[in-house]
Amino acid sequence: MADLILGQTLGFAADPFAEGPGAARHAARSGVLVEGGVIRAVGDGASLRAANPGATVHDMGTALLSAGFVDAHVHYPQTGIIASWGKRLIDWLNSYTFPEEMRFSDPAHARDIAALYFDIALANGTTSMASYATIHPASVDAFFEEARARGMRAAAGKTCMDRNAPDGLRDTAQSAYDDSKRLLEKWHGVDRLSYVITPRFSPTSTPEQLQALGALWAEHPECLMQTHLSEQMDEIEWVKSLFPNARDYLDTYEAFGLLRTGGMYGHAIHLEPRERARLREVDASLIHCPTSNTFIGSGIFDMAGLMAEGQRIGLATDTGGGSSFSMLRTMAAAYELAQLRHNPLHPAQLWWLATQGSARAMRIDHAVGNLAPGMEADIIAVNLSSTPAIAQRAARAQDIWEALFPTIMMGDDRAISAVWVGGRKVG
Ligand SMILES: [Zn+2]
Repeated sequence: MADLILGQTLGFAADPFAEGPGAARHAARSGVLVEGGVIRAVGDGASLRAANPGATVHDMGTALLSAGFVDAHVHYPQTGIIASWGKRLIDWLNSYTFPEEMRFSDPAHARDIAALYFDIALANGTTSMASYATIHPASVDAFFEEARARGMRAAAGKTCMDRNAPDGLRDTAQSAYDDSKRLLEKWHGVDRLSYVITPRFSPTSTPEQLQALGALWAEHPECLMQTHLSEQMDEIEWVKSLFPNARDYLDTYEAFGLLRTGGMYGHAIHLEPRERARLREVDASLIHCPTSNTFIGSGIFDMAGLMAEGQRIGLATDTGGGSSFSMLRTMAAAYELAQLRHNPLHPAQLWWLATQGSARAMRIDHAVGNLAPGMEADIIAVNLSSTPAIAQRAARAQDIWEALFPTIMMGDDRAISAVWVGGRKVG
């Protein structure tokens, strides 16, 4: 049984950072044919309709059909503390994050928040994500159970911390290894789920724990590894004092086997030349979290410079250090931060970052992140006139980018008019 979704379509034949906006493939009065959870065809709507008379038609009018958004760095357990006022990173962790994460020792709380998080993410058009859990294995089970029930392609891991965290939020080098290994064996590759080895960041892991997780990654190179890197200057000073022999922050991962292909490094704002060179050399992923960077006052990511070096870059909300669940708002923040470096990102580049760029960063771009035949059918319909303010501006648009940019800058979950996950309409 096939489904035919009609609307405008937007996908990418290439990377618009390399090829310019011409890398995008946009068509009006277009359609997407879906069968067995997979996109079978993207093309002229009337022709697809004539050729597939048995297909169930979902006519989305002038809505823009796109791959669902991919959020490459979130902390689902922080859903309940998003938009907490007024702290820098270390204080913010101690005042808001750690007390909330403590509550995930209760599996019922973990389940409630995981379900809430996925409902909010899907309402915002986010169909895949890489999430941190808490130190509690039950928080990982809750995430994967809820993702699986929704048929989602999702990744997460147990956050490991064995120092500089309060009582009740510390594991050990051995238990971090054992729990991570058990959870990895339980969840990695089940349906559309994948496990991510997850040391929070080097200030909250002893060298012994980093070593143990590096060993686990060597045993399971098919898994991703995620952590934080060079978010704030005082954090970098702290890392220096904890690892006096390290060449730089990245070296605190590199020295323990936690730097290679498949590594995802959140923030990566204040990088040294050696760090940039090594990240590029191993083709690691840098995850840009722009609403978090402004909200916590971290600094300005060097998008243009890092892209020019050929770094692999994804885009993310960093919920709840970030201030929004919406990848539209996140694109707007990426645009604003790049403007401060006098580098106006084109709407094609922003949309690519939120879909294919993040999928590349998570190494799932063979499956999701683009609207093209053979891709898994995670699809969103975006209303480009979702509020009166957006509608009046979009009405003057001369082309798709002018029509889309007001939604990028001013849009939110009201712009997401329908969501399909694995070909199944979920909202
Ligand atoms: Zn984070």
